[in-house]
Amino acid sequence: MSSEGAQRRRGGAQPLFIMSEDAERTSGEDAQSANIEAGKAVAESVRTTLGPRGMDKMLVSDSGDVVITNDGATILDEMDIDHPAAEMLVEVAESQADDVGDGTTTAVTLAGELLSEFERLLEDEIHPTTVVQGYKKAERAALEAVDEAVVDGEIDEETLTEIVTTAMTGKGTGGVTPESLAGDIVTAVRRVETDAGVDRDAISITTQPGSSAGATELVEGVIAEESPAREGAPSDLSDASVGVLDADLDQAEPDVDAEWQVSSRDQLDEALAAERERLEAFTQTVLDLDIDALFVTGDVNDQVSAALTQDGVLVFDSVDSDTASSVAKATGAAQIGDLDDFEADDFGSAESVRVETFDDDLVFVEGGGDTETVTLFVRGGTGHVTDELERAIRDGVDAATEAADTGEVVPGAGATELHVAAALREEAASVEGREQLAVEAFADALDVVPRTLAQNAGQDPIDALVDLRAANEDGRAGLVQNGEETAIVDPVGEGVVDPASVKQEAIQSATESATMLARIDDVISAE
Ligand code: ADP
Ligand code: MG
Repeated sequence: MSSEGAQRRRGGAQPLFIMSEDAERTSGEDAQSANIEAGKAVAESVRTTLGPRGMDKMLVSDSGDVVITNDGATILDEMDIDHPAAEMLVEVAESQADDVGDGTTTAVTLAGELLSEFERLLEDEIHPTTVVQGYKKAERAALEAVDEAVVDGEIDEETLTEIVTTAMTGKGTGGVTPESLAGDIVTAVRRVETDAGVDRDAISITTQPGSSAGATELVEGVIAEESPAREGAPSDLSDASVGVLDADLDQAEPDVDAEWQVSSRDQLDEALAAERERLEAFTQTVLDLDIDALFVTGDVNDQVSAALTQDGVLVFDSVDSDTASSVAKATGAAQIGDLDDFEADDFGSAESVRVETFDDDLVFVEGGGDTETVTLFVRGGTGHVTDELERAIRDGVDAATEAADTGEVVPGAGATELHVAAALREEAASVEGREQLAVEAFADALDVVPRTLAQNAGQDPIDALVDLRAANEDGRAGLVQNGEETAIVDPVGEGVVDPASVKQEAIQSATESATMLARIDDVISAE
């Protein structure tokens, strides 16, 4: 029934409005093409950063803050995008970053290309539903083809080093080579590996500008941004016993604490005296137990910190709760919530606890007695360099974690995408009807990776793609770049490899967002 019909049946001349006057509505092909264009525009904005020769972006915020980066997720995050369809592509980058870390530019670029192909198919009068179904089939076949591309062999130190180097190549690393950083990153990943896999959360990254990037180092423990509560205690301890107190080390405020129900001045005094005794008793326990460093999440009473400091205990107050957890984890200390039940075995140990002063104080807790926790201490000449180096290192750590956890790596430099595209073209032959065209379009979309790697390296993208496809028929081949040199060779032989999961995740998240966007034929926005 038409809406006019519906209005008439409601008896009379009054039209029925279901949306406010301010609401805007775009329907059908207009809505579809507007969304597709928005998605493509987002993808285009990161495409030039792909690969070792990708360019960087400088992003300037309202307040004038500048970020210089090559990282897809960071670019989109800083871009302040508010078109709803464009935002969906931003989510592709976010979910890629959350799930596997690396491959954000690949995922977004692929999503954009799937949308371009979609647009082409719609122009050829192919129904969106048919395209969506074809894309789903292609996605399944593509994931299988990635499995086929997995390189034989164990993931040893050498493979992990190659994974890290591949993930970091092309990022701003402040003049140091990815190779020279890879050793520390691989060590970090191996150090936190257990039977249950790599404990990624046990690897922290702390940045500190003011030195050359070459001073970046692996710290076997935790670095926390904390200052001692009071000057005077030794700030460089070795073989330290460490306590973590998740409570205030202070007298309760009588007027705000509901526990105090006092009816007379005497009672109040009594109560305060009791509190003071608890504090004193606690202080005495800390001294008796020979605690060297105490991390307290709450406040520390002045007299208590004075007494402890005087006896050489390094006290930190108002410690961030994450920091408290990681110190506890690294040293094997229990996080004590109550002053009264404090025992010797609640304390942990560290080979060294040391405060160093940069712009702010940093405390290094190294060689802890319990679980392995490591920190990559990232240095760089300026904040910009340090931040971008941190992003590169994060990609390296994430990629190595994925490779170690899944045990599967695939050739990089576009070789996997070329292999998957070829497999899809073969698969397409067995797909009935118009869906076949969608499967072929999916294959064409995957070409965007090798094509863009060529383009960003200053080559003619079409010629390069033709050569690469031909080379792939004879065996594994990608567009491997080594410094200024670019050659069509087997990437595995050159140590250019990516985690299989990064490729799989990129295919999945790109397909999901492209099909979701393409299915929308009506955009209704309220004021
Ligand atoms: P993403 O955000 O998708 O990870 P990158 O800018 O990190 O984007 O580029 C990743 C792509 O660059 C991958 O396809 C990877 O295989 C490729 N790559 C990395 N190192 C090289 C190299 N030396 N030669 C050619 N391709 C490389
Ligand atoms: Mg990358």
